[in-house]
Amino acid sequence: MTIANTVASGNACPPAAGAIPALNATAARDLPVFDAALAAEMAPLYERVRHVVTPMEWPHYAPLIKAINDLKKERNAVILAHNYMTPEIFHCVGDFRGDSLQLAKEAARTDADVIVQAGVHFMAETSKLLSPDKTVLIPDPKAGCSLAESITAADVRLLREAYPGVPIVTYVNTSAAVKAECDITCTSSNAVKIVESLGAPRVLLIPDEYLAKYVQTKTKVEIIAWKGHCEVHERFTAEELEAYREADPATRIIAHPECPPDVIKVADFTGSTAAMIDWVKTKQPRKVVLVTECSMASNVAAEAPNVEFVRPCNLCPHMKRISLEKIYDSLRFMQHEVHVDPQVAERARRAVERMVNAAI
Ligand code: SF4
Repeated sequence: MTIANTVASGNACPPAAGAIPALNATAARDLPVFDAALAAEMAPLYERVRHVVTPMEWPHYAPLIKAINDLKKERNAVILAHNYMTPEIFHCVGDFRGDSLQLAKEAARTDADVIVQAGVHFMAETSKLLSPDKTVLIPDPKAGCSLAESITAADVRLLREAYPGVPIVTYVNTSAAVKAECDITCTSSNAVKIVESLGAPRVLLIPDEYLAKYVQTKTKVEIIAWKGHCEVHERFTAEELEAYREADPATRIIAHPECPPDVIKVADFTGSTAAMIDWVKTKQPRKVVLVTECSMASNVAAEAPNVEFVRPCNLCPHMKRISLEKIYDSLRFMQHEVHVDPQVAERARRAVERMVNAAI
């Protein structure tokens, strides 16, 4: 494989009302008070997260969740909650949950007028590409991504010059402007099949170097990679994971392909976020390390109470910009709308639709 370098650039009981005083922010937002009536109304939602949200936290979250869910009805809005959102967002206000592409496809199928992207900016752009007539909001416009920001549209144009005739596949974790310059998009679950579907001997797979290296181990097509990394997944090391296994040999290690190759080598299973979730739910290991963003382990733990999750907690600072407060404000003030230049959108949509139509 080549690196392209020619281009510069568990709480059983629901919490009692009044367990903690309302926070100042709650008062400023004129939210409902967490009294006995609200506690009872919200009890079914608390049930979903009681293994991962403490009774002390719930009186702060519940009024915001109630206000957001009421506003969604008022605005005919849906919330797309990425796997890396914290559990109170993922399980209590998210209408659709999953990885970015699953979310964008689900949103395009709804008749909602407004989409709130509980995720990062490139995801909101992808939603806008697939739902051009809907209003797409992002609760914090500064929610970026180290991987998406590792490459620009100008870089891709230079790659085309440096590798004439070589098809360019972009991971969905890129801006719309970058997608517009590429032939087709891919996800971590379909990357190998997309690369092979092109029928070319060499393919540029950008921007994640580690995903490209992983794909190279699964195909005879020569992969040319870009040196972009996810700042969350690149922090894991094989040594720390081996230490978990040494401490308890029953521990299963499940890694995302954005991890470095030595991490993937020690993993029992490597797959996309959706594949990791399926693996845990199907295999029900006694103990597991999910080698990915920390909140995903909390979200899966809420639905797999018999599995013990070891949590080497690498948080994505960009994903963590999204909070219930910001979701509430975005819906209340209809703020931080995401726009994509129509010409860019048309070309970027083509790259995404080509992947979707490949039915892989
Ligand atoms: S986890 Fe990594 S790839 Fe995902 S948004 Fe954060 S930096 Fe980007």
